[in-house]
Amino acid sequence: MLLKHTTAKEIDRKALTVNPAKLCQPVGAMYAALGLHGCLPHSHGSQGCCAYHRSILTRHFKEPVMASTSSFSEGASVFGGSSNLNQAIDTIFTTYNPDIIAVHTTCLSETIGDDLVSIISKADEDGKIPAGKKVIWCNTPSYTGTHITGYSSQVKAFVKFFSKSTLQKKNVVNLVAGWMEPSDMMEIKRLSKIMEAHTIMFPDMTGVFDAPLDPVHYNMYPKGGVTQEDMTLTGDSKYSIGIGLLCTTEACKELDRKCKVRYDVTDIPIGLKATDRFLMMLSQHANVPIPDEITIERGQLLDLIADNAPHFYDKRVAICGSNPDLVIPLCEFLVTLDMRPVYVICGTPSTDFNKRMAEILKDIPEAKYACGNLADMFRFHQWIKQSGVDLIMSNTYGKYIARDENTPLVRIGFPIADRPGHNAFAKTGYKGAMKLAIQILDTLLDKKDRECAEREFEFQF
Ligand code: SF4
Repeated sequence: MLLKHTTAKEIDRKALTVNPAKLCQPVGAMYAALGLHGCLPHSHGSQGCCAYHRSILTRHFKEPVMASTSSFSEGASVFGGSSNLNQAIDTIFTTYNPDIIAVHTTCLSETIGDDLVSIISKADEDGKIPAGKKVIWCNTPSYTGTHITGYSSQVKAFVKFFSKSTLQKKNVVNLVAGWMEPSDMMEIKRLSKIMEAHTIMFPDMTGVFDAPLDPVHYNMYPKGGVTQEDMTLTGDSKYSIGIGLLCTTEACKELDRKCKVRYDVTDIPIGLKATDRFLMMLSQHANVPIPDEITIERGQLLDLIADNAPHFYDKRVAICGSNPDLVIPLCEFLVTLDMRPVYVICGTPSTDFNKRMAEILKDIPEAKYACGNLADMFRFHQWIKQSGVDLIMSNTYGKYIARDENTPLVRIGFPIADRPGHNAFAKTGYKGAMKLAIQILDTLLDKKDRECAEREFEFQF
């Protein structure tokens, strides 16, 4: 009964957020920066911010996350952190030798009004940036936006600082990756490879957070991540596909504005329909067919859905997420499975969210959904208290509600701090959808086996 004060009765709230379903902007900027090879994210603010952002990523990925900080003291908090950043750039290149420093701001440096452009230009003039090295930056004040907008700003900065056009278009499609697990990105790259599409993915977390254990050598900059060279080439690609509306649209627009690379944006390919849409879009823009190998995987997913239809049918599901780019296709997949997503909460505001939810949930009249600041975990719990559900899908924070309401939980999203393995198996593509469907099924059947009457306790389900 950790959440025993949660009441079923909702009171109209205008400003108060209780247990927000989101994180702060720099977390996203830090995550995205790690998808650039040889890059050290730098948090321009106090040590506490950087420690929190690193620790939440570390707890999710079970990997050490490297980042530096401007370490604001009382003086910097009043007079600004320009000398801290200047000194930090010097120290980082001298001591840690990254190829790139990706600076993002925090609430404190934004409130002071530190001008990153002039501070970093001054560092360059003072010779603090060695030849061939780069310092890039983005603004991530956390009193607005969420980790998703922070991610989007960092990806846009990649384009701003690296992409170049030689006016010679190449037969390459940019895959601008939204916030996904490294395994999800790996699956998208696997599908693109089977299709023989020439692609550049950015950011690219594969080989970063899923690097193999090397007990002998410590490498501060793992082998993975999109390289500077590939990032430069994105300006000559013939098309960009943004995978996830909120995380990637700004970067796609910037690439179009800067290098005339036209773009389209689609959902993260979670579930049958979203994967169909992504593959057809890639097929069209890369001008390659979808081979049988992938069609067979699609058929296997359909077979799994058909075989287990009675177990999915009509199950009431409550979904709480922070990333609309994930929540939207997830809901769509549950509807494909004939489940009923009756409550959907998404902590990041999105203009698209309500429209998409209305479309996806049109045959579920009791469905309630909300996004933005007031779409918090308190409200989510209140809805569940009003009328229970068969399943909760959420990040680790959902476990408190799941325990209080004795409802099974499937962990999905960010952060998942209390279980391993979530970043080892993809949820994207047809194979990922099969994995997700089986995870849902196992969770529902485990509860049934635990609680059913003895006469219904069957060897076979
Ligand atoms: S919300 Fe602002 S002050 Fe708090 S950790 Fe994030 S950046 Fe730092």
